Amino acid sequence: MIRCLAFKLRTSVEDGAKLLDTMREYTKAFNTCAKWGFENHTWNKVENHKATYKLIRESGSLPSSLVQGARDCACEALKAEKCKTLPKRKLFASMRYNQRVATVNMIHGIATIATTGGRVKAAFHVPDSYLPYLGWTVKGSTLSYRRDTKDFYLHVSIEAANPAVVSDIKVLGIDRGIKNIAVCSDNKFFNGKAVKNVRGEYAKLRAELQSKGTRSAKRKLKEMSGRERRFVTDVNHCIAKSIVNTGYTVFALEDLGKIRVQKRKGKELDRKLNNWSFYQLERFIGYKAEALGKRVILIDARYTSQKCSVCGHVYKGNRNGSDFLCHNCGFHLHADLNASRNIAQAGISCLGRLPVNQPNVASI
Ligand SMILES: [Zn+2]
Repeated sequence: MIRCLAFKLRTSVEDGAKLLDTMREYTKAFNTCAKWGFENHTWNKVENHKATYKLIRESGSLPSSLVQGARDCACEALKAEKCKTLPKRKLFASMRYNQRVATVNMIHGIATIATTGGRVKAAFHVPDSYLPYLGWTVKGSTLSYRRDTKDFYLHVSIEAANPAVVSDIKVLGIDRGIKNIAVCSDNKFFNGKAVKNVRGEYAKLRAELQSKGTRSAKRKLKEMSGRERRFVTDVNHCIAKSIVNTGYTVFALEDLGKIRVQKRKGKELDRKLNNWSFYQLERFIGYKAEALGKRVILIDARYTSQKCSVCGHVYKGNRNGSDFLCHNCGFHLHADLNASRNIAQAGISCLGRLPVNQPNVASI
């Protein structure tokens, strides 16, 4: 099954100019190929390539695969007309891209598009009605330009991976943090005040005992660290239990292990990584979910805190402490709650890519 989804791109003025320049050069390449084929009475792509490729590449800066795309389009047009008329292309007619020249990430709403001036990154909003399609495979895309509104659109053709999996599943997104141990996309907060207070007290005591340095102080320190751990463990058990015992069947969490592999920097992420209790909570939710025939999925943690869960705009400055304010659409929400909604959305799209009999904990 194949579907086509249309996305309006958000591009800077500079990137918009690059896209337009690419369209211009693409049309030029198309015309060169069409003219050669028309004059030589052939729609053979290989012959056309031999005659025109080098010339086009040397006369402009159109990326190689776009030159090939323009040539293929020209040859197809020649074939359709049996070389009786010279195919013409409008200056800003839509342009075909394969998956390599334009990569489309529907989970994060970001496309990177090859242009004459290098790759351009453009964000787009994924409406709720498209959510069931997010797990589908991208086959290719077409870039179009509306001269009246000066907007670019990306028409993405996608193929069904396993659409049946997505129905009947309810996904809960869970954001883990320090201030709030867990914030769920159904607006539930588990705040970390109690844990923070207890840990703060222990930290004070620890400092005192460490400065003493006596044998009995060392013994006390050891006992204390055990007590502290047991307290946090107990809190995590309670949170995991209350999360899993909801109507949701799938629990989406950020894949913190993946961040470590990627060696991503950033204070907030570092803090998350250094905290064993994040992993413990993940494990507890995993065990308890499995016992109920539910499942945990781990999703790519990039952009979850910077992205607007309403319009999809990704921008670092959208987040200010616990406040999320979208610089694009003005959407305002608690930052952790916004993140949890992004995690839920990413979870839904991840599901489409998983086979039905996947083990309980899966990762994308
Ligand atoms: Zn927004």
